[in-house]
Amino acid sequence: MVQDMTMLDYQVIKCLFRENRPLKIGQIKKLLDVPHSTLGSCVYRLKSQGYVEYEPYYEVKLTTEGDELAKEILRHKHLIEIFLYRELDLTKEQAHEESERLNLVFSCEVINKICEKFDHPKECPCGETILNSQSCHCQQSII
Ligand SMILES: [Zn+2]
Ligand SMILES: [Zn+2]
Ligand SMILES: [Zn+2]
Repeated sequence: MVQDMTMLDYQVIKCLFRENRPLKIGQIKKLLDVPHSTLGSCVYRLKSQGYVEYEPYYEVKLTTEGDELAKEILRHKHLIEIFLYRELDLTKEQAHEESERLNLVFSCEVINKICEKFDHPKECPCGETILNSQSCHCQQSII
């Protein structure tokens, strides 16, 4: 569940999903610019939660659950962007930035309210597709 994640969990899941391939801890470390030890404990935590596969010296790979979680956090992020951009008149860039910080605070319920309010948008302000998520779908879009 999105609200139980730490900011680093969030970044690691998003990074693996966006790169769309298994990554070595060293590669993730470079992409995210975080200390190795912090990243190591994060990967073990995500492994124990079933979101990634990982064995020492091998690559970190998203599981099906991890992939689903990634889709959900991106769905949340993009809908928060829409809210900030359309409702609060932030620029696309500001909305993009701020949504990262707010992402772990909003519940699925709030996210789906935003989806409804803006008539189930298909794209975020910067033009990325708003993904569907099995764990977080808004009822109204499935008629
Ligand atoms: Zn959700
Ligand atoms: Zn919707
Ligand atoms: Zn965006």
